[in-house]
Amino acid sequence: MSNIALSQKAQKLMKLCDQKDFHNLDDLLLAALLNSGCPAICMTEGCDHTAEMEPDQDQGFCQACGGNMLVSVLVLAGLI
Ligand SMILES: [Zn+2]
Repeated sequence: MSNIALSQKAQKLMKLCDQKDFHNLDDLLLAALLNSGCPAICMTEGCDHTAEMEPDQDQGFCQACGGNMLVSVLVLAGLI
């Protein structure tokens, strides 16, 4: 039996859902599309800092780890 490894992107998307209290990705994406601030999450391994970013942000500054790895949920999901 083989383990099906979730991609890093999928794992981060699920983390973001959890942290923002959304039950599924669809709800999270819908909220991101309807609101001006878009949820973003740090892609650095071991850092799951989240913040509100521009919808097309793909290298936002992370206040937790100091990297430029914050990616908006819409970019993560491949919608824009
Ligand atoms: Zn970080």
